[in-house]
Amino acid sequence: MQLKGIPASAGVAWGRALQIPASSPQRDTRTIAPPHVAAELNRFDAAVDQSGLALAFIQQSLLAEGRMEEAEIIEIQLFLLRDRELVGKARDKISRLRYSSQTALEEAMAEVLHALRLLDPASFRERALDIEDVVHRIIRVLRGEKGVLEGIEGVESLVLICDNLSPSEAVLLNPQTIAGVAVVRGSATSHFAIIARSIGIPAVVGIGQSLQDIRDGQLVLLNGTSGTVTVDPAEGLLEEFEQTQSEAYVLQSGVPLRMPLRTMREGRPLLMSNISSVSEAVTAQSRGADGVGLFRTEFLFLGRDDFPSEDEQFETYRAIISAFDAETPIVIRTMDVGGDKPLALLRMEEEDNPFLGNRGMRISLKRPDLLRAQLRALLRASAYGNIKLLFPMISTLGEWRRTKAVVEETKAALARSGIAFNRNVETGIMIEVPSAAMIADRLAQEADFFSIGTNDLIQYTMAASRNSPSLEELHDPLQPAVLRLIHRVIRSAHDGNIKVSMCGEMAGEMAAFPLLLGMGLDAFSVSNDALSSVGRQLSLQSERWDKYDLRQAAEAVLNLDDATDVRQYVESRFPEIRKATIIPDS
Ligand code: PEP
Ligand code: MG
Repeated sequence: MQLKGIPASAGVAWGRALQIPASSPQRDTRTIAPPHVAAELNRFDAAVDQSGLALAFIQQSLLAEGRMEEAEIIEIQLFLLRDRELVGKARDKISRLRYSSQTALEEAMAEVLHALRLLDPASFRERALDIEDVVHRIIRVLRGEKGVLEGIEGVESLVLICDNLSPSEAVLLNPQTIAGVAVVRGSATSHFAIIARSIGIPAVVGIGQSLQDIRDGQLVLLNGTSGTVTVDPAEGLLEEFEQTQSEAYVLQSGVPLRMPLRTMREGRPLLMSNISSVSEAVTAQSRGADGVGLFRTEFLFLGRDDFPSEDEQFETYRAIISAFDAETPIVIRTMDVGGDKPLALLRMEEEDNPFLGNRGMRISLKRPDLLRAQLRALLRASAYGNIKLLFPMISTLGEWRRTKAVVEETKAALARSGIAFNRNVETGIMIEVPSAAMIADRLAQEADFFSIGTNDLIQYTMAASRNSPSLEELHDPLQPAVLRLIHRVIRSAHDGNIKVSMCGEMAGEMAAFPLLLGMGLDAFSVSNDALSSVGRQLSLQSERWDKYDLRQAAEAVLNLDDATDVRQYVESRFPEIRKATIIPDS
């Protein structure tokens, strides 16, 4: 069966259909007893405030990502929330007519929509969608219900089928899980279409009610360029699609193809995000990261006149946790200042070579007051989610033992005060100094996990400052010396039964990809703008490449002469990586 609609966002996608029921909240016809009217007004105001906060939060993260057009769409909704017409009318109905908040809002919406239809029939449809979106958001808050997209995830890529997707929901679409969207209503200029185009999710709109006949789980091939949706496509069509998929990663339109995640298997490496703020955590979650592989907390300390208090830090860590499910791993690194991130507040003495001076844990161990405050905040936050603590610039076993001793002392102090925290919180080491890589077998006996920081590991191994562009050749992550160290670290971690991730830029380097897979890296942690490209490669290539080949290649390159030889070897053995470029998300 093929359905025709309006092309709204170019690109081809296929996946299993998932019907999203139109949200039509049950009516609430209660009348409020006079003594309870004031409380109902408070409940209404609180729901409006909460909706405003949620929208502002979404808007902030869109702005932080430079998604200006989408942020403006959310601004319209924020404006509606502040608008006396809608909210004022609803309040009036609660206080004068003793309507429940929900009924009052629905009645107010009906009146506003009626007036709008008369005043401005041309733009009525689109503005009506914004108004309905805002009202449904407030009603969901009043009823304690989830958003329509919450909880949608799967190992297979999905094609969402819906009556209409509101702008504030559309901005949360996760391209890692959602391959495409087919919509009953809408036009190519609707907010939904604009957002689908900017996220790069293929979409067809205005298909009409026949879409409702598609059952959950049916295979769907959606072509957002031609505006067609084919249900249960013939074998040939799918093959043609697969072919296109492996031959070109970018369509002529510049819209990346959505790679079906159906190829993802149990045991594949995790794809994590490197973040430095709460809004980046929200973005990471919306882009489908398996968690946070590195939160650089030093950005909480830099550029201010005072140290952030324990409570302030605690609130930030908790906000990051709350962007994800409680089980999602969130690796938080303690303050890593020094080197190229000097902290004026510390008034450290001038150093000839800051990168080889006081940095990371070297500073924190000398300032136990700061370390304790940060650990207290982190441990308190650990009661709310799956936080793991990561410590930067560990060079010796002694440093690691002293670090762990401070963690244990802090835990004991919290326990004495009856403050909740996760007693089994994991503690891990950044492997970014060659000495740590050389003793990784010993460190693995005393740590819960490793994270390889290649940005520093490479500069220290090659004696080539990471800030010197003219030393590019020495910065190449495919230098055999670097690969040997990484191989050693991963093997030591696995011999010691602990997991190892990589959070340096090398984790997003395509030519290193087969080698890191072959060495058995457990997690790749990359910046948000590389998440979807690396994720696509991870799902596509970890299925395609043979495990034995990967392992053999990872061993073979250790004995090559230089980085150029390694690159040639990798490209001839895994030709797919030549086409696989990282396409940063805008
Ligand atoms: C690294 O060194 O690779 C790392 C991730 O830490 P940073 O870049 O913050 O030094
Ligand atoms: Mg580092």
